[in-house]
Amino acid sequence: EDRVVIAGAGHAGFQTAACLRQSGYAGEIVLIGDEPGLPYNRPPLSKGYLANGVEEGSLCFRPPAFFEQNRIDLVASDRVVEIDRSARAVRLASGRRLTYGHLVLATGARNRSLDVPGTDLDGVCHLRTVAEARAIRSQLGGAGRVVVVGAGFIGLEFAATAALAGAKVTVIDIAPRALSRAVSAECAGLIEAYHRSLGIEFVFGAGVSRLNGTAGRVTDVDLPETLRIPADLVLIGVGVVPNSELATAAGLEADNGIVVDALLRTGDPAISAVGDCAAAPNPFAPGPRIRLESVQNANDQARLVAARLAGKPHGPYAALPWFWSDQGKVKLQIAGLGQDDDERIVIGDPDRLTFSVLRYREGRLACVESVGRAGDHMAARRLIAQGAGPRPDQARNGLASLKDWLD
Ligand code: FAD
Repeated sequence: EDRVVIAGAGHAGFQTAACLRQSGYAGEIVLIGDEPGLPYNRPPLSKGYLANGVEEGSLCFRPPAFFEQNRIDLVASDRVVEIDRSARAVRLASGRRLTYGHLVLATGARNRSLDVPGTDLDGVCHLRTVAEARAIRSQLGGAGRVVVVGAGFIGLEFAATAALAGAKVTVIDIAPRALSRAVSAECAGLIEAYHRSLGIEFVFGAGVSRLNGTAGRVTDVDLPETLRIPADLVLIGVGVVPNSELATAAGLEADNGIVVDALLRTGDPAISAVGDCAAAPNPFAPGPRIRLESVQNANDQARLVAARLAGKPHGPYAALPWFWSDQGKVKLQIAGLGQDDDERIVIGDPDRLTFSVLRYREGRLACVESVGRAGDHMAARRLIAQGAGPRPDQARNGLASLKDWLD
């Protein structure tokens, strides 16, 4: 069968379809997504879309004509509900059945829910889809008090946007600091200071015990020890869960994501997985596999699978992870993956929000977290990928920037 079926029309699914055509694949491509409309870009949802009213149409990767010209059969508002591996076929929620030569799982991830009473009250929001962002945008103007549960990237991006829009914002996290799973304490501390300068308050080391409301609408958030924080709007940003149930129901292995090999194949050679739903080997990560949640990873994995299916040359997946997050004036960019026990050296001018944290593992540059230093970030991507870069003693000895070091 000369047909590739792609389950999930988010970043990774769309890129797989687009790259298949770019790589010269001539067979049928069917891209199935359970959201309505055209595939779109999620990062602006917690940034420009909320802050300055970016048009929804501009979030779409490509206009309708692109799908026609590239013979990508986009099936929106439908869902793959079952994989029949022996027949190489999928069943959709609409009842439709489709056979495949190859199936790409690009089902992404969904919001993790907070298991406390009151999350079903009006004014309690999550932020993953454009529909959820639209709901938040419509309430943000009238929200004087905002509580954000979770000091991760989405929580902090939203907190900055809400504070800059004039709301009184409190961020709550069970961890002892912001971005505890994502960046070094040095970097997080400096970013947190910026948020405090916007009037944002933080409560760390505390979990929410319940959300209270009146007439079905949230009014405040309870923490243990009788702390009560008023709220007109609550954003829950406590991470995501990979959508791997479709795969496991078909007997494929999952372990925090659908397990794939270095060529992004599942245990069934006719099925691959890419993007937020996939747990893949990565030479820059410790351990046998890692599941990454980033545009870079979705794009690079999609590209590899497309090349493989189109019969084009490709290596194993070995792309250096990189990421960005915009939080008000903070433009954070990360190259590589940090680990808790990395040696860390800060260069630049933290007071002016332009600095880089260089993270070393066994004396080698492994990760660079840059704020307001795009040049350092681009240099870091090259240096880490090449296993190069200044030694720790060179970095500590008045290194002005990584960019200069590269030049
Ligand atoms: P998704 O984009 O989640 O797409 C999966 C799609 O598949 C969804 O539409 C889902 O509904 C659908 N689906 C699931 N199951 C099925 C099924 N059975 N049948 C059909 N369809 C199905 N990354 C960055 O690098 N930088 C950023 O600044 C950044 N900001 C972000 C801000 C927000 C608000 C969010 C939500 C994410 C952000 N990310 C950012 C992460 C990035 O958007 C994701 O890593 C990326 O979207 C992953 O793409 P994906 O295709 O794997 O998953």
